[in-house]
Amino acid sequence: MSFTKHKLLVANRGEIAVRIIRAAQQLGIPTVAVCSEADKLSLPAMLADEVVNIGPARADQSYLKGELILKAAKETGATAIHPGYGFLSESADFAEAVVEAGLIFVGPSAETIRKMGDKACARTTAQAAGVPVVPGSEGEINSLEEAINTAKDVGYPLLIKASAGGGGRGIRIAYDDSELAKEFVIAQSEAKAAFGSGAVYLERFITQARHIEVQILGDGEQAIHLYERECSLQRRRQKVFEEAPSPVLSPSTREKLCLNAAALAQQLHYKGAGTLEFLYDDSSQEFFFIEMNTRIQVEHPVTEAITGVDLVQWMIKIALGEPLSLQQKDIRIQGSAIEMRINAENPAKGFFPSPGLLESVSWPIGEGVRIDTHLFDNYIIPPFYDSLLAKLIIHGNNRQQAFERAIMALDETQIKGVITTLPLHKALLKEPDIQAGLFHTGTLEMWLSENHEKLIDEEKTHAVTTH
Ligand code: ADP
Ligand code: ADP
Ligand code: MG
Repeated sequence: MSFTKHKLLVANRGEIAVRIIRAAQQLGIPTVAVCSEADKLSLPAMLADEVVNIGPARADQSYLKGELILKAAKETGATAIHPGYGFLSESADFAEAVVEAGLIFVGPSAETIRKMGDKACARTTAQAAGVPVVPGSEGEINSLEEAINTAKDVGYPLLIKASAGGGGRGIRIAYDDSELAKEFVIAQSEAKAAFGSGAVYLERFITQARHIEVQILGDGEQAIHLYERECSLQRRRQKVFEEAPSPVLSPSTREKLCLNAAALAQQLHYKGAGTLEFLYDDSSQEFFFIEMNTRIQVEHPVTEAITGVDLVQWMIKIALGEPLSLQQKDIRIQGSAIEMRINAENPAKGFFPSPGLLESVSWPIGEGVRIDTHLFDNYIIPPFYDSLLAKLIIHGNNRQQAFERAIMALDETQIKGVITTLPLHKALLKEPDIQAGLFHTGTLEMWLSENHEKLIDEEKTHAVTTH
């Protein structure tokens, strides 16, 4: 299909904006970058065919303002908008406004985002479709009395989760009725302040679970899965290190989980790329749906590495009307891939942010190495946004080879001027349990509390070799 009459506006920043601009370029589609005052000298702004300055550094005055993005689209004659992840990517109102303005939203319909982007609602939808969910409340909980009553069935410990939450935010834990009474009110008011909606629901807290998620691609008619990613290594409920496929699923469990997810996407007539997230219990081999992300995810490259499918190009092609020509039988797992998120934070000092002048950067080379980043020498990392600087995606013929290549790649990577999470990944790759795939969602935080010295040592060695 030819896309010559189209122009794509990228409503995001950082590495994902670069990723989307490059995908559009490969499809021969001209691009528009939008940037805040703080991002005028950024890689997306340099790579795009046109750039529109949409406002001040603060995201709530720029990247989160749908009307400014629509204005930029009008001014430049853009025909489609890709939202990336974070910011407006899961805003049903924004998706609706884009369509009302006569433009194409690269993603599912506003209706699907409403249904699945709201976490309490997504639970109900999944349950109705026969997908097992974590035991919890039926929909939202509106009063403390209702919460205490529901807790009797759900059991402690439990989580109070914001329906509109995301990025690991808006989740609180309670171990008994009195804690629930205290936390419930805080959860409601925090959710209101952070996400604009005070709606919350309850879910049993599963202490030793793995986070396993399934990648979906659909064109509204047909939906397929692209197997799973394992994202159990998390800090503050945010992913730090991801891999595909999961090191623990048996072929039959994998098949069951992935087909279940694809069937749900099919039932939704899902259009675009999406992810169904599950918690997986190793001992019983049971999985429970937790939420759906109706957008591209940070960790999508590990799936691209093992399947050879360009997810971002497919999102664009589908949005512009091309039917999904891939069939389930075409999707095969080739080898194993891991992703390490490199953030401008100091792991030896409580992950304290470390923005500022990046003096120079030098990336690894070799087979199976992919870097997604917006960095360049002398770039000034602004302090206003997510601290993700780069993703190192390493592919091998098997998991062991991926790890061996990752160790070399980390040694070859040099980022001078700012402190990053590179030493954390170096230390993690040396851990026998991590090498063996023995972990759950609580493992990394436990490791961090026990291995402060190791992190300081790793940072010192790192500093000696790179500064
Ligand atoms: P992924 O699985 O793709 O990492 P996350 O849920 O971690 O997904 O979110 C990706 C990015 O979007 C992160 O930068 C996160 O901080 C941000 N994000 C996601 N949802 C929200 C939200 N509701 N509010 C604010 N930021 C969000
Ligand atoms: P977000 O929208 O912020 O991504 P999720 O519902 O996906 O929120 O949860 C984020 C992380 O929190 C999960 O990956 C998992 O580690 C942990 N978590 C969420 N729900 C539960 C649960 N019921 N039991 C144990 N851990 C959970
Ligand atoms: Mg999640």
